[in-house]
Amino acid sequence: MNEATLVEAFRGIPRRDSVRIGAQIGKLRKVCLGDQALEAFFPESLDILLRLFNAPAGAFWFRPFNAATLFPVSRVGFEQLTLSSSCLSACEQMVRGAWQALGPQVRPIDHPFVALIGPIRDGSTSIGALQLVADGGDEAAQQAKLPYARALAGVLSLIQPAIHRRMQVGETSIREATDRLAELADQLTGLQQSMRHAIDQTLGQLRGASFGSLEANQQFARVIQELLDTHGLRVECPECGTPAILRCSKNPRARDGVFVFDHSLAGRRTFHGGYTTLPVLQVVSKPPRRGKTLA
Ligand SMILES: [Zn+2]
Repeated sequence: MNEATLVEAFRGIPRRDSVRIGAQIGKLRKVCLGDQALEAFFPESLDILLRLFNAPAGAFWFRPFNAATLFPVSRVGFEQLTLSSSCLSACEQMVRGAWQALGPQVRPIDHPFVALIGPIRDGSTSIGALQLVADGGDEAAQQAKLPYARALAGVLSLIQPAIHRRMQVGETSIREATDRLAELADQLTGLQQSMRHAIDQTLGQLRGASFGSLEANQQFARVIQELLDTHGLRVECPECGTPAILRCSKNPRARDGVFVFDHSLAGRRTFHGGYTTLPVLQVVSKPPRRGKTLA
């Protein structure tokens, strides 16, 4: 598709703004022919694509070599979209469902937005996708399906060779990099699971234990807490299920103190429990820190 045809393709898509299409396509071509690495190419080209398509959000997705599905490698604007989270996740599902299609996919979502998915191919293989959430304006998005698809096909014909060329140069291609990250994430998840399992088992064996003095019980509670804290874990309060810190407190009726679960409920520090021996300890993830509300 030559530049004039591409400019013509963009004339058909609905827009409220007055972007100079010819100038933006010129910029896109320049970025495509440039020599920046993929990591810089993605955000630079996305910036222009968002303007061209009157799209508030967009992303490039790629499939790591040994993964079954795609992961976003560059994303812009999704946080600011006024779309419900269910619509946003439907958009992601759309990408995962349509990236192997032969041609661009155009699907109306919550008015006035339209989801555009352009499969990125390497010969006959799908390797990723360009996702755009365009503002379809007042026109019925259905009527604009064809112009969107044409414009998307046009920019893909510019972008795909630019991506291929960049994937073939340099020591670390984006695919190798995403592969490595995906592998690492897998390994970490596996490690976390087995570590949690080991902690769970050990704590399970200590059920009913008491260590003979208040100091010993307190020290034991501290050791457990330090171990859990190192790994971002907490114990679950057996009374209310909230992630809690195990402590041993002084108690007039128990010489060696009582084990309590220290947590904050509805914003207030609260203690549950009061066991003279170690209760069943269920390990759970530490809840995210509640930051102060930003002004
Ligand atoms: Zn509780």
